[in-house]
Amino acid sequence: MNEQAIKIVTVIGARPQFIKAAPVSRAIAEHNRLTPHASPLTEIIVHTGQHFDAEMSDIFFKEMNIPQPAYNLGINSTSHGAMTGRMLEKIEEILMKEKPDRVLVYGDTNSTLAGALAAVKLHIPVAHVEAGLRSFNRKMPEEINRVLTDHSADILFCPTQQAVNNLKAEGIVNVDNSAPHSSLLTPHVYLVGDTMYDAVLQFSEIARQKSTILENLGVKPKEYLLATVHRPYNTDIPENLESILSAFLEINEPIIFPVHPRTKQILQSTYPSLFTPHSSLKMIPPVGYLDILMLEQNAKAILTDSGGMQKEAYFFGVPCVTLRSETEWVETVESGWNVVVGADREKIIDAVSDIKSDNLHSKLYGDGHAAEKIIQCLTA
Ligand code: UDP
Repeated sequence: MNEQAIKIVTVIGARPQFIKAAPVSRAIAEHNRLTPHASPLTEIIVHTGQHFDAEMSDIFFKEMNIPQPAYNLGINSTSHGAMTGRMLEKIEEILMKEKPDRVLVYGDTNSTLAGALAAVKLHIPVAHVEAGLRSFNRKMPEEINRVLTDHSADILFCPTQQAVNNLKAEGIVNVDNSAPHSSLLTPHVYLVGDTMYDAVLQFSEIARQKSTILENLGVKPKEYLLATVHRPYNTDIPENLESILSAFLEINEPIIFPVHPRTKQILQSTYPSLFTPHSSLKMIPPVGYLDILMLEQNAKAILTDSGGMQKEAYFFGVPCVTLRSETEWVETVESGWNVVVGADREKIIDAVSDIKSDNLHSKLYGDGHAAEKIIQCLTA
């Protein structure tokens, strides 16, 4: 394939995907700049619209220099079936028109699955970034999306050894860290590291220079907790949401809580009083990438049900309390950095009072060059 131009369609649509994709778009630009004669890459971005408002989408394109999407599908706020179906139909039309050599999908959302399915049915090789993650909880929509995407993919980019092991256990075994994929008759699995780690390394210093979020919120480093909640298990089951909120209110420390739009919708109808100024619990709109990096690295601890934030806590050496009953990022727990407590009020409170600061910090998620490795594999 050397010397031949390679056309890639990237399908993204949700906040974590913008973050995961940014280092790859940057590596594509670098590849084209540094090796202008070797397999130039053209990236066509399809934004499905799963997350659409300025604070969940535009700000990431701007802050992280992600190229503007060539297509904006505007598909959101509907049921899983309708959303995935509409995306599938529209992405298929785009793929038939663009005829790319590869389709690149990220993570575990409906956009990921729709992109993978549309491509595989048209016999276009699918590359899945963040392949092999498993929570083994089939009630999570993300788990279904991951499993189906991995089993549709031709090229699987794993962030961790555990992800490679998970794929092996499902019969996807062709692990190859070096050789180019001469044939796509069998899937190819590459352990490349995590592009979210690349992003943290690329943007943390910029965040320190540019973000004024701590001053704006009137908090000092290591004197507040950072919290996020958005998983359906926590937001759609009233007892779980109530239990988490009651723990937040009981913990006698400032908590900064950037509220995800779907969580806000539920909270506004069920607990409107929470939105009046509260002495310790500070509910704020979702923040951009630079502000979240600043809030994460200076937090005393992070309380979250987000996959990305569990890892970011680890990258920054900040203790994490995971508000879920299991995690895909098992290494963070095994290394003693993360404690999984679910939505249990007492366990949340106990975990926060047990927080110890420590300097444990090893490299479980690659060397910060995952995106470059992905490009090497795609152009090999
Ligand atoms: N994030 C952000 N602003 C916020 C909250 C989160 O920029 O107010 C970032 C953060 O870096 C996190 C990423 O969004 O890792 C992932 O988003 P989310 O928690 O929505 O998805 P998940 O990681 O659970 O798939």
